[in-house]
Amino acid sequence: MSSSVRALIDLSALRHNIQRVRDIAKNQRILAIVKANAYGHGAKHVCHAIQNFTDAFGVTSFEEAIELREAHIHQPILIMSRFWNSEQLQYCSEYHLSLVLHQLYQIDILEKNPQTVPLNVWLKLETGMHRLGFSPTEFQQAWSRLSNLAWIQKPLGIMTHFACADNPNDSLTDEQIRCFDQITQDYPGPKSMANSAAILSRPQTLADWVRPGIMLYGSSPFPKKTAQDCGLRTVMTLSAPIIAIRQLQKGDNIGYGATWRCEKDMLMAVIAIGYADGYPRHAPNGTPVWINGQICHLVGRVSMDLITVDLHKLINIKIGDRAILWGPELPIDQIAALSQTISYELFCKITDRVEFIAHE
Ligand SMILES: *Cc1c(COP(=O)(O)O)cnc(C)c1O
Repeated sequence: MSSSVRALIDLSALRHNIQRVRDIAKNQRILAIVKANAYGHGAKHVCHAIQNFTDAFGVTSFEEAIELREAHIHQPILIMSRFWNSEQLQYCSEYHLSLVLHQLYQIDILEKNPQTVPLNVWLKLETGMHRLGFSPTEFQQAWSRLSNLAWIQKPLGIMTHFACADNPNDSLTDEQIRCFDQITQDYPGPKSMANSAAILSRPQTLADWVRPGIMLYGSSPFPKKTAQDCGLRTVMTLSAPIIAIRQLQKGDNIGYGATWRCEKDMLMAVIAIGYADGYPRHAPNGTPVWINGQICHLVGRVSMDLITVDLHKLINIKIGDRAILWGPELPIDQIAALSQTISYELFCKITDRVEFIAHE
């Protein structure tokens, strides 16, 4: 029996999903978002699999970017938020990294630390999310100050990020688009607005560069649409072996807090996965688990290393069989909704204890 929890990464599904982006964004360039270890999928194998189909990669931190360079990823890499000191500029030169700027203090750093290697930058514009980005007046100042720095490549890129694109009808997105178009219309240079949700629902936001994240991994960016509705294929299959099967009697309780009590005699299986692997502790009773083509349901609390399921009428199940917690057979979006979260969080919370296997 292979005892480990396993995340199978289907690279052909990944390429299908980036092709889906390409089919929609025919005239755009693609900044594939691979922050947070490619949403928990393993940034190195993800980037190697799609590098010929993307124009650049987007990450959050210098650490993430340098890890990709050291893995021989040669595409442009954009650091989207964590530039905050002058030492980091050396990494930009050494590893050829691009930066997103969103506050004037970052421009102070550039002015005080001229470099010999040209630096590519994007300016992030605040259009309604009120998180990161220059206000319209700051934007003008940022633009003119950067215009005076010869070592900063021109033209500058301009981007913004949507707060509510996951609801295709939200009027805040319309306002953000209007605001972005109005402020940027007289500026040259590449422009970018669209995350996955906007790529799939707002053709007018495609601009020059699109920034797909979650859709690459085959999960839906919309609460009300499945991945299949979006034409996406699931990339990750998370599985773990059954390590015990037990006959319980009516009235027996299961697990911590004895929160489940058997209403009748019942066949139960223990699966070797828990919240220490990244399975959500708040998955409720009744959360589906897929075993050998059949669905059974979680009973009792999720423990650190184990979960328990009701085998009910399932047939031909034995110790060592692998249960699928999410995958093409069982959409992660369904598990996330039951656990009151989103697939993004479940993906990111998979821990080092899980063995990753990438396959074609
Ligand atoms: C994470 C991120 C994205 C991708 O968002 P998805 O919803 O995963 O497509 C795009 N742009 C920026 C700035 C991001 O931080």
